[in-house]
Amino acid sequence: DVADAPGAGALVLKGGAVSFRGVGFSHAGRSRSIKDVDIDIEAGSFVGVCGPSGAGKSTILRLLFRFYDPETGAVAIDGQDLTGVTQESLRDALGLVPQDVVLFNDTLRANVAYGKPDATEVEIIEALERAQLGEFLRRLPDGLDTKVGERGLKLSGGEKQRVGVARTIIKNPAVLVLDEATSALDSQTEKEVQGALAEASRGRTTISVAHRLSTIAEADRIFVMDEGEIAEVGTHEALLKLGGIYAGMWKRQSETGEGRSGEAQTAG
Ligand code: ATP
Repeated sequence: DVADAPGAGALVLKGGAVSFRGVGFSHAGRSRSIKDVDIDIEAGSFVGVCGPSGAGKSTILRLLFRFYDPETGAVAIDGQDLTGVTQESLRDALGLVPQDVVLFNDTLRANVAYGKPDATEVEIIEALERAQLGEFLRRLPDGLDTKVGERGLKLSGGEKQRVGVARTIIKNPAVLVLDEATSALDSQTEKEVQGALAEASRGRTTISVAHRLSTIAEADRIFVMDEGEIAEVGTHEALLKLGGIYAGMWKRQSETGEGRSGEAQTAG
């Protein structure tokens, strides 16, 4: 529903710092979905966002992508209110690896180049290597020209996710958003995808929305949402010490084995 403001200019990137200041928003006909949300994300840092179902995590992402404008407060990138910049420049600045990466019924080349239509072959191969699909590519008889998707080669969940990561790497956005990017994967596959995601997020502002807390345990800062508000902020260690919502979620996930894998399994 949003439109470019008259005279809106392009977002000028200076590293990709993100801020939410006093942000409130309610979905039509609902009481407040989020209120008084303050989030400060330094350029180049890695933050996690977690919290119970319905806490407002997706609403935060939708406001960042400017699917809606806040009712109170402001969302900004590098100090520029998103309502004052062009949507095209905002879309260029943001990259998303979604829960479920969708492949088009086309070649692997076209599926990766979707992130940058004028990408060269060298760039496409480099993006696949960085997304840890180099081996996979070398095994394909038709290489980049292999058809993938519905009527082509069926990719595993982890391979599909990594094609999504390659797309994002080639796009090279200032701000990377991971929306529970590893939810549907077994732990070995999750490890491979995590490796690709770590490569994609290196030196880049990254916001990871997680149900499984192991995926954000190493974050510079974790924002814990509850009932539309930021309830707790801190590192994994600090939040465990605090003994609040995060610590409770971590304990539950540790007990059930849900949401823990890789490094974090031995850390807690
Ligand atoms: P989950 O972990 O289940 O994905 P979440 O933390 O992402 O949850 P949101 O999806 O942001 O939570 O939802 C926050 C609140 O806004 C909830 O009360 C939800 O019911 C409400 N909400 C979300 N989307 C809509 C919508 N399109 N229309 C009406 N209400 C909505």
